Amino acid sequence: MHFDLNEEQVMIQSTVRDFAQKEVAPVARDASREERFPEDLARKAAELGLFGLNLPVEYGGGGADYVSYCVMLEELARVDLSIAVTISSHISLSGKTISKWGTDAQKQKFLPRLASGQMLGCLATTEPNVGSDVSSIETMATLQGDEWVLNGNKMWITNGGLAGVAVVIAQTDRSLGGKGLTAFLVERGMPGFSTKDIHNKLGCRASNTAELIFEDCRVPKENVLGPVGKGMSVALSAFDSARLGVASRTVGVAQACIDAAVSYAQTRKQFGKPIGSFQLIQELIADMTVETEAARLLVYRAATMKDGGDPATVQTSMAKYYASEIAWKAANNALQIHGSYGYTDDFPVERYLRDVRVSCILEGTSQVHKLIIGRHMTGLNAFA
Ligand SMILES: Cc1cc2nc3c(=O)[nH]c(=O)nc-3n(C[C@H](O)[C@H](O)[C@H](O)COP(=O)(O)OP(=O)(O)OC[C@H]3O[C@@H](n4cnc5c(N)ncnc54)[C@H](O)[C@@H]3O)c2cc1C
Repeated sequence: MHFDLNEEQVMIQSTVRDFAQKEVAPVARDASREERFPEDLARKAAELGLFGLNLPVEYGGGGADYVSYCVMLEELARVDLSIAVTISSHISLSGKTISKWGTDAQKQKFLPRLASGQMLGCLATTEPNVGSDVSSIETMATLQGDEWVLNGNKMWITNGGLAGVAVVIAQTDRSLGGKGLTAFLVERGMPGFSTKDIHNKLGCRASNTAELIFEDCRVPKENVLGPVGKGMSVALSAFDSARLGVASRTVGVAQACIDAAVSYAQTRKQFGKPIGSFQLIQELIADMTVETEAARLLVYRAATMKDGGDPATVQTSMAKYYASEIAWKAANNALQIHGSYGYTDDFPVERYLRDVRVSCILEGTSQVHKLIIGRHMTGLNAFA
């Protein structure tokens, strides 16, 4: 296994790096301050093909591989995690999931608009009473004639307030628990479906997060995604892809923290010398550098395995868990190196710190990923 980027991946890296510097950097701080989804920026990213980068070519996507997807997210997150969260959730949780599980008609209907960025997508498992334990989902779907009727609430859904289509995991046979779940494609405007934006998040304030509300929401039978009763499999396949997205975008934030810390340490002087000359500061930077490089290699390994057709579930958990934890630590180190200046939004490190914290929570908390890795190592299942 080698980790040199090929010509196409290098081209994607340099195109996205350029886009992030020219278009994302100027708006990132204000969008976070104002808690505003940057529509203009999203439109420009869509024009560049980022919303469909690794969706199938036959439906208007770029057909890129997982390594390219990770490279794109790292470059975006290196400037602003919010836009990376928007795009990676859109691709992994909705586009990729519909590509894998959708009927021809569903793919024809949704994928061209998702790939072009004309329509945003999301996936909803989490509920007010249901987080890590997806098998206990309470949102109920009942078949009435040719329609399923959904009732319940979903919480914390990325892109939820803007999405044209939501992949919603609901319970269709409560007696079966996790084996009774089914996935539905719920479209904006369907009767009984509404959303409510969630405000005052600690970070990623320029990405949309919403509650989804289903009150006798009528969904036609043809909008069932995958077989009835296979909702858990649909969700797990979406997680396999989305968790890699979290890992790669988190590496981007860690790299941004290194960039900011090095630059500040080279110019800030105390005791007559640049603070970067002090060994204790160099130790912080050395740790950040080694850990970020190790996380990037875990990401590339999992992405390369996925490109070879292996879901790489455990390797993805390792990448997601490790990258999230070291990025959070890198942000803390970078802020420490900035001293009091790091505590205001005159410098971006305070945004990196606030934004990256959620990476240890969403798409499986760090504890859940340790359980997945522990189950793999011991053969004993904490979730059973
Ligand atoms: C900004 C944001 C965006 C999000 N986007 C989405 C989205 O697009 N779609 C979606 O469906 N959800 C989304 N989520 C929800 C997210 O995936 C959940 O919050 C996450 O899965 C954890 O669930 P919970 O918050 O209910 O925590 P809980 O599951 O209640 O866990 C609380 C604590 O208990 C620990 N814990 C739980 N079980 C165990 C165990 N067996 N052993 C040890 N410790 C355990 C957890 O690690 C955690 O520390 C998002 C959340 C946020 C904040």
